[in-house]
Amino acid sequence: MGQPSDIEIARAAAKKPIQEIGAKLDIPAEQLLPYGHDKAKVSAGFIAAQAGKPDGKLILVTAINPTPAGEGKTTTTVGLGDGLNRIGKRAVICIREASLGPNFGMKGGAAGGGHAQVVPMEDMNLHFTGDFHAITSAHNLLAAMIDNHIYWGNDLDIDIRRVTWRRVLDMNDRALRQVVTSLGGVANGFPRETGFDITVASEVMAILCLASDLSDLKRRLGDMIVAYRRDKSPVTCRDIGADGAMTVLLKDAMQPNLVQTLENNPAFVHGGPFANIAHGCNSVVATRTALKLADYVVTEAGFGADLGAEKFFDIKCRKAGLKPSCAVIVATCRALKMNGGVAKADLGAENVDAVRAGCANLARHISNVKGFGVPVVVAINHFVTDTDAEIQALKDGVAELGVEAVLCKHWANGSAGIEDLAKRVAELADSGEADFKPLYPDEMPLLDKIETVAKKIYGAGEVVADQSVRNQLKEWEAAGHGSLPVCMAKTQYSFTTDPNVRGAPSGHSIPVREVRLSAGAGFVVAICGEIMTMPGLPSVPAANSITLNANGHIEGLF
Ligand code: ADP
Ligand code: MG
Repeated sequence: MGQPSDIEIARAAAKKPIQEIGAKLDIPAEQLLPYGHDKAKVSAGFIAAQAGKPDGKLILVTAINPTPAGEGKTTTTVGLGDGLNRIGKRAVICIREASLGPNFGMKGGAAGGGHAQVVPMEDMNLHFTGDFHAITSAHNLLAAMIDNHIYWGNDLDIDIRRVTWRRVLDMNDRALRQVVTSLGGVANGFPRETGFDITVASEVMAILCLASDLSDLKRRLGDMIVAYRRDKSPVTCRDIGADGAMTVLLKDAMQPNLVQTLENNPAFVHGGPFANIAHGCNSVVATRTALKLADYVVTEAGFGADLGAEKFFDIKCRKAGLKPSCAVIVATCRALKMNGGVAKADLGAENVDAVRAGCANLARHISNVKGFGVPVVVAINHFVTDTDAEIQALKDGVAELGVEAVLCKHWANGSAGIEDLAKRVAELADSGEADFKPLYPDEMPLLDKIETVAKKIYGAGEVVADQSVRNQLKEWEAAGHGSLPVCMAKTQYSFTTDPNVRGAPSGHSIPVREVRLSAGAGFVVAICGEIMTMPGLPSVPAANSITLNANGHIEGLF
């Protein structure tokens, strides 16, 4: 038994030329900018010309708290897009691009899995259309210009101990987390401590994903704070004079990438911000374009619904004026069993009681998402090891909450395995039931916004923050940043800040250790726990077994 690996399935795909995929969405061939035969960018001119058209329905795919057992949000997003097409709907999916660095650490791609994948998956997980390289270059140009400004006399009076703009690289490299630059003498400038983050953690990435067009991109880049003076006044990217050149470097990267699913349905893959210190969704440009071209747009938010869906609603939808029609919460029996207290090693054995206990976690996410005024359906992403009794326990647990759980076998069977979910999603999206509203109003003070998310979404009893954090938030309010949404950076594994606490705990404290202002992206990051912005490689990195074979095929990547 057993199904071929993700990469074997992907390699066997009968891909169509990208122009045929574009034609499904009525994108004329001359408005596609091909990158080879199976990838293309959609021209900015074509996108601008769609502005007056009505929007399709927006469907969010989110999940319970992730566990090492795996949930399958991307797999379900891709499967659902194919399923909607199968039942005769004009549907397109929107997902994030993959970060290159982590592929060489642990195995695992970002293009879905089994018979629900986006192709070409190898490209998508490596250099793709160069967007992340462009972001890396734009980010580092600004870093070089800051040091250059200081070198040539520092007219802006930057306090070189307070340069907050770091450098980025799309690589897992812990050796670069903290570095000293400008060593080696007078000609090399003024030595100072700084460090590297991975490219997806760059504010430039978040901006690319939230900007509506190139002029908005340039304005937001200009607004980024890169350093402070001795009097603590901010120095921006615009002060350095880098916003124009950075926009030039990002001009092509701003245009969304079109590829296809295994079943030759269109897929936009564009942008990929971190889901902790940023909002974790694909670009606004891609989502808006997709809504103009299709009747149903299926998109994914990173992590579980407590982080991913909350930020999708409170940051992306609020800021881009998007109105989601329906949400799909992905759950698996395996992950519910882990939430119900089973250790990873014991997941193989049937355990109906653990599934039932784990439903508490799912229930909290369901009521949270409904709280945004968005109707919910649960997708049970079927694993071959699931037993009938476990699946029934999951369905019963969800039915008690007045929500339907639909069994989906897209990983094994592609669109044929997910027709029931596709029908239910189309029905819910068309019902007009949705009445989307963000969790808190713009004018709420920043600390109250943090408390609102902590109490209403995480079930916390309180937020604990030092006076210095409170003062910082007040200063930003006084400087005119008070109406920004908050971006919570917390472990994805729990409603608490302890990754080991599963289920649906209540009354816990959420400590806010630090706050950061992303003035260009347009949010205030609240850091609750250890957040890593430059990952490392494991003791035996995947890179050790990645190679090209005699046929020119990549081995060991997935
Ligand atoms: P997420 O988007 O939630 O991080 P993915 O959809 O990327 O998760 O899936 C993670 C991994 O789990 C992929 O390698 C995928 O092939 C695998 N996977 C997903 N669904 C199933 C399933 N039903 N059975 C077996 N493996 C699955
Ligand atoms: Mg995913």
